[in-house]
Amino acid sequence: MRRTRIVATLGPASDDDATIKGLVEAGVDVFRLSFAHGDVPSGIERLRRVRKLAPDQAIMVDIPGPKIRAGSFGTSPVLLALGDKVELIEGFGETSIASKIFVEREGVLALLKTGDRIHIGDGGTSLVVLETGSKTLTEVTSGGAVMGKPGLSLPSSIMNDRLPTDADRERLEALRSEEFEILAISFVRSGFDVESVRAVLSRPDVMMMSKIETSEGVENLEEIVEHSDAIMVARGDLGVRMPIEEVPHLQKAIVRLGVRYARPVIVATQMLESMTHAQVPTRAEVTDVANAVLDGASAVMLSGETAIGEDPIGTVKTMDRIVRRAEQSFDYQDWGTNLDVQQISNNSGKTARITAAITGAAWRAAMEEDAVAIVACTRSGTTARAISRFRPPMPIVAITPQVGTARQLHSSWGIEKIFVSPLQDIDSLCNYAAEQVKAAGLAKPGDAIVVMAGSESGGASITDTVRMVVIN
Ligand code: PEP
Repeated sequence: MRRTRIVATLGPASDDDATIKGLVEAGVDVFRLSFAHGDVPSGIERLRRVRKLAPDQAIMVDIPGPKIRAGSFGTSPVLLALGDKVELIEGFGETSIASKIFVEREGVLALLKTGDRIHIGDGGTSLVVLETGSKTLTEVTSGGAVMGKPGLSLPSSIMNDRLPTDADRERLEALRSEEFEILAISFVRSGFDVESVRAVLSRPDVMMMSKIETSEGVENLEEIVEHSDAIMVARGDLGVRMPIEEVPHLQKAIVRLGVRYARPVIVATQMLESMTHAQVPTRAEVTDVANAVLDGASAVMLSGETAIGEDPIGTVKTMDRIVRRAEQSFDYQDWGTNLDVQQISNNSGKTARITAAITGAAWRAAMEEDAVAIVACTRSGTTARAISRFRPPMPIVAITPQVGTARQLHSSWGIEKIFVSPLQDIDSLCNYAAEQVKAAGLAKPGDAIVVMAGSESGGASITDTVRMVVIN
């Protein structure tokens, strides 16, 4: 089984039921639905459809924050050549062409000044503003092909709205009663941003995933990680807003910090970009995906490749092969040994410290006794995520009473089997765990498994027990 998860973004190329089913079969663990495109009712209609077609996978809804998008260029590449003059026009739902780009945000063109730079999409193509006033005229300073509805990166003084933006607030209100598990928040700059979005959504069961894509996000990284339930290295915007040569080093630092805090960390954007049109990825892309696995990422993400690409299912299959091969070279012993067990958080409370100590003990026991599986009995998923951060070589199994937790665990590294069952006393849980692990073919009589379970303490459940169980 593959241990690093695959996230696929849905879009016009993957919106039909057959493709979504094909993506599930090809191994997608998390479906990303971007609410930057289209209206809210059609986004919700798609979410409900995906929920039915992918009952076991996690659904991640991505809200765009202050991100500004261009009107669609369609599904074929449109070339913006160096030196071309391009007019910018405000308008929604319009089609952009090489000489006229529609900007889907009211009032922004009036804020532009001559000489301002605008990056399109993930930064390869850029414009400089030549003329403002009755007409906004720009010139292409870095040419390239664009398609779909690329983001427009305007100077940060124009994109400095607090989160959630008014448009995101409307989206969150509409989403509050929908069945999804993860909310990806764009342009997070502080822990306060995360808590503000969390409060507006008002759904304690939904994980808040912060997209790290601005210099403020990088500066306040540790605070953001503490306040978030999961993290995304959003390399597209990150590479526009930070010097591009910093991106690989930021990726490693964000992954390390996120994993230390037991947060799933997704590495995103341009992972197999050339497969949007080609059948075979570049060698550099294959190496990039493998390196993300070796960096310790919990998941790798496909964006345009599956949203507007020519072969979404084939791209997922390719990613699956690259990840499986990279995992054969992962040094599990070294990773777990070097993880600083107690440093879950400098400010973490007693419960988090107990979870860290218990999962550290479970990891050591499993390694010393060559256990064939580690079982986490977990209500919210916290214990399963806390053992996942050790990257143990043996399968992790989760038992949870909640379907939503089971789906969320599809974004965590290495949780190979997830059973939904009511949690009972520790003896019954150990017996149930032994039976399930044996029935799943992960253990035979005489093998040892390590089970972590908890008790209720003052109304809250806390994982406080590690037990080694030998299979009968
Ligand atoms: C990114 O910028 O890398 C990213 C994932 O965000 P989006 O796809 O929403 O632009």
